[in-house]
Amino acid sequence: MAHMSLKQKLEVLADAAKYDASCASSGTAKRDSRGGGIGSTEGMGICHAYAPDGRCISLLKILLTNVCVFDCHYCINRKSSNVRRARFTVEEVVQLTLGFYRRNYIEGLFLSSGIIKSSDYTMEQIVEVARLLREEHQFHGYIHLKTIPDADPALIEAAGRYADRISINVELPTVAGLKRLAPEKSATRISTAMAGMKSAIVDAHDASRRYKSAPRYAPAGQSTQMIVGADAATDSQIITSASGLYDSFGMRRVYYSAFSPIPDASAVLPLKRPPLLREHRLYQSDWLMRFYGFRAEEVGAATEGGMLPLDIDPKLAWALKFRDSFPVDVNRADKERLLRVPGLGTKAVKTILSARRHRQLRLEDVGRLTQSIAKVRPFITAADWRPVALVDRADLRTRLAPPAEQLELFAA
Ligand code: SF4
Repeated sequence: MAHMSLKQKLEVLADAAKYDASCASSGTAKRDSRGGGIGSTEGMGICHAYAPDGRCISLLKILLTNVCVFDCHYCINRKSSNVRRARFTVEEVVQLTLGFYRRNYIEGLFLSSGIIKSSDYTMEQIVEVARLLREEHQFHGYIHLKTIPDADPALIEAAGRYADRISINVELPTVAGLKRLAPEKSATRISTAMAGMKSAIVDAHDASRRYKSAPRYAPAGQSTQMIVGADAATDSQIITSASGLYDSFGMRRVYYSAFSPIPDASAVLPLKRPPLLREHRLYQSDWLMRFYGFRAEEVGAATEGGMLPLDIDPKLAWALKFRDSFPVDVNRADKERLLRVPGLGTKAVKTILSARRHRQLRLEDVGRLTQSIAKVRPFITAADWRPVALVDRADLRTRLAPPAEQLELFAA
């Protein structure tokens, strides 16, 4: 590896980290530095990543190195990829984090790495960065560490003690996809490591409720990322896999990252990226499962040939398919049924439940709570409104789908 300045390494290793989407910082425990040290984790709902190309920063998002002994087909840093390589020392990452923090550039660190020498060796280096920051420099800011499933569980345990959030990427939605595109990775080892992290997080959470001085363990929980569109997995399979990850491992978040063709791509990969709208629809279906009480099978039932429609959101797709569940009476229906109404969000439902204790709601009352009453109207009844045959109309989908946008012929 040619000698590089710190700035050159940063260019390479911040750019190499941009493919990882799993770095939101929400949900961690409150921690501040008024009692000494530096950094705090408050006010951090949104996090961005640092890159030298000017993207907004609040989290220094880098790889320790983009050298890797593995050869995952979808990864730009794989062993056989012809990219410029760089490697930070542990001390360099520590100094960069502290320097950026002091200049108010960032609120924390997201650190991942290619695998150098062995999984244990790499994990030791990652843990050492976090240890130095926490123990030697009293850094109280946010730390997200990407852990390596094959590493010694004791090292993953240590990572959880220093980090706010830890994560392991599940990578592909199906075991077959993982075998084909990341043959050196093992679905079983990934699940075992996730299960270990889950039980450590649960134990630490229980202990913290009993003892004030209980040691922390990844208070912001664990997350993972799935690549969408690099294999033939359908949206139904992705949704089922995500639901299993939430249920089995208590994931805080599953991130979906639309596969983007990489320079010098492997021949087994598709030549085209999936539409970005597909990633968006998967995030919407994820919200349906986490906040709207939908089960994975129900979201799956809204798909067509296993794929979520791109022209309408999954909640509307479900409602159009299961029209006999509507209309829903906004003055009487329970919360679960109100949450099924297209166009009503969780906040609108909360307001409806509270407002109707005092008076009967009319259509215009509901209209004030939603961006589009036209979308809600066919699916509800109110004090002054019944949709009559509206919900049964054959052209309802066409009427409710947003108008198709003309694509630019010479778009960049
Ligand atoms: S192990 Fe990680 S860094 Fe290495 S090739 Fe696979 S995905 Fe890329």
